[in-house]
Amino acid sequence: MYIIKNISTRLAHHPDLAKVIAHKFQIEESDFKIISIIRRSIDSRKRNNVWLNFTVEAEFSGKAPIHHDIVEVIEKKEKTLEAIILSDLNPVIIGCGPSALFAGLALVEEGFKPHFYEQGERIQPRDEKVDYLWLHNQLDPDSNVQFGEGGAGAYSDGKLTARTRDKYSDKIYAYLTQFGADKRISIDALPHLGTDGIKAVTTKIINYLEEHGAVFHFSHKLTDIKTVNERLELTINDEKITPEICLLAIGNSARELFTKMHENKIAMEAKSFAIGFRIEHSQEFINNLFYGDKCDFTVTGPASYRLTAKAGEHSVYSFCMCPGGSVICGSSEENSIVTNGMSMADREGRYGNSALVASIEPSHFGHDVLAGMNLQRNIEQKAYRDFYNAPAQLGRDFLKNRVSAKLPKTTYRPGIYSRSMGELFPMYITKALVTGMKHLNKTYRGFIDNGVLIGPETRTSSPVRILRDHHTGESINTPGLYPVGEGAGYAGGIISSAVDGLKAASRFKIKK
Ligand SMILES: Cc1cc2nc3c(=O)[nH]c(=O)nc-3n(C[C@H](O)[C@H](O)[C@H](O)COP(=O)(O)OP(=O)(O)OC[C@H]3O[C@@H](n4cnc5c(N)ncnc54)[C@H](O)[C@@H]3O)c2cc1C
Repeated sequence: MYIIKNISTRLAHHPDLAKVIAHKFQIEESDFKIISIIRRSIDSRKRNNVWLNFTVEAEFSGKAPIHHDIVEVIEKKEKTLEAIILSDLNPVIIGCGPSALFAGLALVEEGFKPHFYEQGERIQPRDEKVDYLWLHNQLDPDSNVQFGEGGAGAYSDGKLTARTRDKYSDKIYAYLTQFGADKRISIDALPHLGTDGIKAVTTKIINYLEEHGAVFHFSHKLTDIKTVNERLELTINDEKITPEICLLAIGNSARELFTKMHENKIAMEAKSFAIGFRIEHSQEFINNLFYGDKCDFTVTGPASYRLTAKAGEHSVYSFCMCPGGSVICGSSEENSIVTNGMSMADREGRYGNSALVASIEPSHFGHDVLAGMNLQRNIEQKAYRDFYNAPAQLGRDFLKNRVSAKLPKTTYRPGIYSRSMGELFPMYITKALVTGMKHLNKTYRGFIDNGVLIGPETRTSSPVRILRDHHTGESINTPGLYPVGEGAGYAGGIISSAVDGLKAASRFKIKK
């Protein structure tokens, strides 16, 4: 079996790949057979000349041509994880986001019946709470965009990009298709499900887990973790439980718990993350700027982009682009503003947005374990003025350091108010953003000038890392505690968090 890479074709719904391959390698179509398409990406490096790029698996009837784009598949020996034997059939999982749910799937596959504890609510009441915030300015700190069934990814673009592809990520895509996602997600280079898609899949996963003996406790909050008599002790809704192990899948916004864990001396460290805001344009502007006006958008879908610039020791980059989506209020603490982005599966909205952020490290904000978290909170509180309206500024005014006299309509609810975004951040972040954005404005003509900034975007990834043993995944000083997913500080995004949870849970075996 061979992998054939870099098969480039003009935009078409059903390109004749055999013909393209035969032409590229000067062979006959009868010399090979395409077994399957394994990757499809959009090559938009040249505006008005957007192409498709494919990678396929194929077999050759004779000798394969010698070419660097044709690679023989050699089965790699995957390292097997060291097994950890448990006698308790009911491991505890805290959280109900991607890392928790995929950990749960690995556990039920082994025959465990995990117990989940999640502070937020199920999707339907959670939807009502989220709407209530967006329409009536009232936040439930335990059930919101960050917290509840499906975790932070439940209100998202549902981008399913994997950092690396291996047997674990393949398994995640297989599970997602088993629970209703389109098979294309494992082929597309930038797959996405949309908020509607991700919620539907999540509910099916939970139903499946329940059918296999898992038990879900929503509106159950973990408030303390300690070791008592060499056994883990968790306090949940004021009751104490002492499970054999706990998979801690709490996401990047579990601030009360991070603080408690730090007080209890559970080993953690500050980690780098990124801070900035959302930039929103009309999707038509984005389509035109990145793909051009001659592109067949029925093949490509609305244009997406990924931009980077250097600003001294910081990187300034776009992140979590939501074509046809909206900027949303993702606050989880009262009287503070956090923005993020989401879209539906069809991405048919008239606007597109992405985060535009600068990378920062403990050397910038301090090495104290909670320094990054405190910086986030400080910025979010500064951004709050009245109700949950978000500060906003025209991109061109941000570069010129002047408050915008007039702001256009945006997708953010409840609403926006005019503010100099630079004053939300410490000077080093503002300077980095201005430097990086000036570069981007030059390279992608008018990209910043024509955008409106809405912010702040502070929850790009976890500000802490919960230290765990490299081989076992267990906390280095709290036996029985297995931190997983984004909150643990080893993952960022839906797929990598899901992989982290699945991989950690795959180690556990039942004592015979
Ligand atoms: C609006 C938005 C859009 C996003 N879009 C994308 C995207 O398109 N693609 C992508 O890859 N990523 C996206 N992300 C990021 C992605 O959602 C996260 O990376 C992912 O959900 C992390 O998974 P997780 O399981 O580690 O944590 P989470 O999904 O954050 O789940 C953690 C869960 O733990 C619960 N919890 C926390 N503390 C406690 C406690 N003390 N007691 C009980 N329960 C607790 C929380 O309520 C939460 O439900 C988006 C995030 C947001 C907010």
